[in-house]
Amino acid sequence: MRIVKTVAELRSIISEQRRAGKRIGLVPTMGALHPGHMSLVPVVREHSDFVVLWIFVNPTQFNSKQDLDSYPRELESDCRKAGQAGVDLVFAPEADEIYPEGLDSGYQRCSVAAGGYSRGLCGATRPGHFDGVVSVVTIFFNIVQPDAAVFGEKDYQQLKVIQQLVHDLHMPIKIVAAPLVRETDGLALSSRNQLLSSEDRERGLSISHSLFEAKRLVAAGEPDAAVIRSMVSEQLEAAGLKVDYVEIVDTETLVPLRSIESTGQLVVAAFAGAVRLIDNIRLEK
Ligand code: AMP
Repeated sequence: MRIVKTVAELRSIISEQRRAGKRIGLVPTMGALHPGHMSLVPVVREHSDFVVLWIFVNPTQFNSKQDLDSYPRELESDCRKAGQAGVDLVFAPEADEIYPEGLDSGYQRCSVAAGGYSRGLCGATRPGHFDGVVSVVTIFFNIVQPDAAVFGEKDYQQLKVIQQLVHDLHMPIKIVAAPLVRETDGLALSSRNQLLSSEDRERGLSISHSLFEAKRLVAAGEPDAAVIRSMVSEQLEAAGLKVDYVEIVDTETLVPLRSIESTGQLVVAAFAGAVRLIDNIRLEK
């Protein structure tokens, strides 16, 4: 497996692979890799022959400097895990490789504005976040020019925002969705979990437990979104979490639902201490 830090070297290797007839697959991540990230590799492998794993903690999608500074960075062990997962190349650029003019220099960079799927949910409480995401993902896509790129359903709204990006801007890239991966006790895997104290991790478990309960209630015939949302919020608050949002939305358009006629996506964000956790589950009547 190759580890590359410059755009020039990455482009030259990718051109070589293309000349050899290989389809390129891309796995964008912010590193601190866990089994949820690794599960993305075989998913994109089905649509590609040469898999590039991108590791970049993108400063422009963070709302606070403290969140950016505390984000875990573990390049050495990430590369080992990527090799074991069958990745062909890790691209791990420094920030000045991607943003050569610097981020605090006053230089006005060109950027992409996220579409309507970015409104509400995380977009409402993290202003500018999805603009940062679609801008950096556009940069990734322009540098790698992948045939396929994979995104996890863990970040359900992000997946929809990226699908809208490639659709609206006519990017010839297949976006593949990968299922959310959980710890055995139900906690959704996230790089941020390692920032949790053991008490906050315990509190965080109430998220997946209440989502599973909601799934059971809807499967048993409860159609009222308000009833489900209250049950989830109450459980999270009782566990000591600070709720950011609990919403049930259309699985495709992310429009909030009042009742669950056939399916809906229950999406949750809550703070365990200073750590913001997100999770979601498909509800089916
Ligand atoms: P991140 O490094 O958190 O930006 O995540 C990089 C990619 O991995 C995104 O497409 C995420 O949706 C995906 N991902 C992160 N955690 C999980 C998980 N627990 N299950 C599935 N995909 C995940």
